[in-house]
Amino acid sequence: MTTDKGRLKDMKLSRRKFLGSTAIGAAAVGGTVIAASALSPKFAAAAVGGGSAGGVSAANAGLGLANKSAPIALPASWAYSADVVVVGYGGAGAVSAITAYDAGANVLIIEKTPTLASLGVANTGTVCTEIQGGGGNTHISGGICFMPLDPVGGALWHNSMSYGATPMAVSEAWAEMGVQNRAWLDSMSIPYTYSTTTTEYGNIVPGASTGFASCTPTGGGAGFFYYLDQLVQKRKIPVLFNTRGQELIQDPNTGEVIGVQALQNQSEVVNIQANKAVILTTGGFEFDARMKLNYLKCSPYHLGGWQYNTGDGIKMALKAGAGLWHMNTTSGRYSPWTPNYNTAWAQHHANNAWIWVDRYGNRFANESGLPSHSTWQVAVDWNFTYGQYSRVPALLIFDSSSITQPVAGGEEPRLHLESARPEQTTTTTTSSTSTSSQLVYGTGINQLPVQLGGTGALASAGFTGSAVGTPWSNNNAAEIAAGWVIQGADLPTLSTNIANATIYGSNQGMAIPAGWNSVESMDNVTIPEAPGGGFGGTNCRNFSVANLTAAITQWNKDVAAGKGDTVFGRTAVTMAALSTPPYYAIALWPSGPNTNGGPIRDQYSRTCDPDYNPIPRLYSGGENGSVWGFLYMTGGNNGESISFGRIAGNNAANEAPYQWPTS
Ligand SMILES: Cc1cc2nc3c(=O)[nH]c(=O)nc-3n(C[C@H](O)[C@H](O)[C@H](O)COP(=O)(O)OP(=O)(O)OC[C@H]3O[C@@H](n4cnc5c(N)ncnc54)[C@H](O)[C@@H]3O)c2cc1C
Repeated sequence: MTTDKGRLKDMKLSRRKFLGSTAIGAAAVGGTVIAASALSPKFAAAAVGGGSAGGVSAANAGLGLANKSAPIALPASWAYSADVVVVGYGGAGAVSAITAYDAGANVLIIEKTPTLASLGVANTGTVCTEIQGGGGNTHISGGICFMPLDPVGGALWHNSMSYGATPMAVSEAWAEMGVQNRAWLDSMSIPYTYSTTTTEYGNIVPGASTGFASCTPTGGGAGFFYYLDQLVQKRKIPVLFNTRGQELIQDPNTGEVIGVQALQNQSEVVNIQANKAVILTTGGFEFDARMKLNYLKCSPYHLGGWQYNTGDGIKMALKAGAGLWHMNTTSGRYSPWTPNYNTAWAQHHANNAWIWVDRYGNRFANESGLPSHSTWQVAVDWNFTYGQYSRVPALLIFDSSSITQPVAGGEEPRLHLESARPEQTTTTTTSSTSTSSQLVYGTGINQLPVQLGGTGALASAGFTGSAVGTPWSNNNAAEIAAGWVIQGADLPTLSTNIANATIYGSNQGMAIPAGWNSVESMDNVTIPEAPGGGFGGTNCRNFSVANLTAAITQWNKDVAAGKGDTVFGRTAVTMAALSTPPYYAIALWPSGPNTNGGPIRDQYSRTCDPDYNPIPRLYSGGENGSVWGFLYMTGGNNGESISFGRIAGNNAANEAPYQWPTS
């Protein structure tokens, strides 16, 4: 058995091969030369050396890989064949495919969703109809691509952000490649805006001078994927849509991954040969209710985003012998979610008259001062008296001053709860001085049809949403009547109504909406609840008017004094009196755009077994085993899709072709 120390040494040696052949030093990135002087001497020195003759798997011989029994029999014939097979056509998949192709490989992409053309999308906008299809979370994201400016300090920073869950060698690879992200976008002629303003986390490691930046491609995430798709089309890399990867095909003796078994058009099983390697870029497990229940830190956990990300790549990798890492992390926050939608959405507040309280009516945090993507961490608080998560759900409390504000986009003032409309697209950022506390979804989600995980808002004349039932009403009346928005003429009445409300934690039992891909899971795990509200459940039977009244009395006193929140430190400019009845509440759930856990990945983007030994010829990129191991930085996922997509694509292309046994 190789020791950790020995293995890390081996990996470092192999890594030089990667560095020599990919992009460090004076290597060309898609035609753009990136100077070695931009890197520290340590990494520039590592660039000296040749390509990866013999392939990465060959270099790993003797690393202690256990033989795996093949989960499925070796096929007698193959329906498709390529050097590198990329499973999942989002940002990481596109970057991997482009890189592998540019490194000389013959590449095939498979994608679970149908083409947009086959859905007859009515949208006349460019970002939807001009892509072939796919896109995943990348297409509906804000598009921000985060990157470090210094590879040494950046590696230390990234490793600290992971709380040690991501090995330093992987953080080093993240930083080395991340500093090149901007040059890579340039080399691919992807237009962007560049910023060195950081949000959320700055330099959290004393002494590690880093510096950060981000590039946001023109058009945000929709634009980013549009440009990637153009690059894929230009190279004529085939994409098989409606082709869902299901199993990896392995050499039964060596464990080498030599293909993928997929379900095509939801009916036909096809075997796809990979002469060199398979790259799993299937996104996260945002829409697999069982995985979320078992792996995330609390439950129910309602994420938003691309509803086809059901952890498929994680399951495929597990069956092939992969280990898991930091399954419990998300890029997450608190969000409203109601049973008529399969997705959570973000809060957007019309004014400052709002607070969060727990299931008993107590405030528990500076609601507008938490790092946006780590807000979910405050949800993990177990109450031993009642045997339940005290903040799952939490409740957003507001008054009628919020819902009579004009909505974004210049609509007429009317009764309108801004935070309760999933089609809202106004973008805002977390700030201790801003009136809005949370990011909202990127515009892409509105430009995609319901069947592809979008709201369909722009794909038809009016908003249709991914609602199981009726879309959200303009005046909230239907949602108030349904109890999803709880109303009370005064605080005692609101408290009583909260305590008596049925607060749905899942949409279990609801019909799958027309047009919805029936292979997808609804968010349907129900937490058992003891009679009277004890243990688990999602209702708020022990909600206390005394607690709520005390919280709001203190809040209003602090607002009047004008010096900020004396209890949790919310700044004065983000506060306004809660004093205009009727009062309202809506349940908030640990949420956010995406998960970050998955199969273990090393610095070469290889998928590893539980002992961190690579599974030969298997790579990953993006959210499927993201390198963000604990805290997450705005733009970190798209930045990683570029960095590790490039590593995976290059190393997969440089594998020696698989040698079939001669006997
Ligand atoms: C609303 C929103 C806003 C965001 N904003 C930002 C931001 O500004 N910056 C940032 O860095 N990150 C952002 N993120 C996160 C970021 O977009 C994602 O983490 C990133 O795009 C993931 O890229 P990916 O390629 O790994 O996965 P995806 O882009 O999700 O692509 C995965 C693809 O795999 C396909 N797939 C799944 N299973 C299979 C299978 N079995 N076979 C074949 N195909 C399969 C899916 O259909 C999908 O097309 C945001 C996310 C959301 C939801």
